[in-house]
Amino acid sequence: MNKFLLSPLFFLFLCCWGCSPRYTPPQYEQPKRRLAPASPNQTPDMVDLNRTGWSSGKNIIVLDPGHGGDDYGTNSNGNPKFYEKYLNLSTTLIVKAFLEQKGYTVRLTRTNDTFIPLDERAEFANRLGAQLFVSIHYNSAPSKDAEGLEVFYYLDKENATRTEESKRLAKCALEQIIHQTGVKSRGVKQANFAVIRKTDMPAILIEGGFLTNEKEMEKIKTSAYQKQLAQGITHGITDYLARAPLLKK
Ligand SMILES: [Zn+2]
Repeated sequence: MNKFLLSPLFFLFLCCWGCSPRYTPPQYEQPKRRLAPASPNQTPDMVDLNRTGWSSGKNIIVLDPGHGGDDYGTNSNGNPKFYEKYLNLSTTLIVKAFLEQKGYTVRLTRTNDTFIPLDERAEFANRLGAQLFVSIHYNSAPSKDAEGLEVFYYLDKENATRTEESKRLAKCALEQIIHQTGVKSRGVKQANFAVIRKTDMPAILIEGGFLTNEKEMEKIKTSAYQKQLAQGITHGITDYLARAPLLKK
């Protein structure tokens, strides 16, 4: 046996190692690799829509579990109450796992119960040079009968291509989500939410059903439903990307 292993120094080493503070993950995961810088004659649009390297998982999809920390989002009417922020995170983690199984690189705006300001969520995706941004939420309404799924995109007046791509991503996602969950479709809609307004890339916000609808809530709280929804989102994203090369840039 090595002499060092028997020496007091070794035991001191073991003790220090065992007592060192636990590693705390950063609030935002850092990208493993960054995209290659744009050539000077590329417009930001062309960079965003450059889809080479998707199959190698080189590019990044940012998923945004809505709310978190002191911001609980909406909640169910019944007792016990279910809060949106937890459902957003659990659903997003399933989407992340499904996308990673398919070889995509995924980053989350939050990985735990923390509130991240909306501007920072968008900036995070912009800084990463993410190719897509998908924010995941659940809905509520004063009427207990309100039901169904809807997907929002932002009408970016300064970037028609981003608008067009966001709308197409929204349609792909909604179609697949409805197919997987069998829930009523409320359609693809425009909205002015900060996270989809301030992002540079195609971006959507999904409302995955109403916590205030008792029948829908019964489903939403189950992992089976969240998996169906996550599968729909994943298929929607892969559909969107598969048809991307056919689009004119
Ligand atoms: Zn929400």
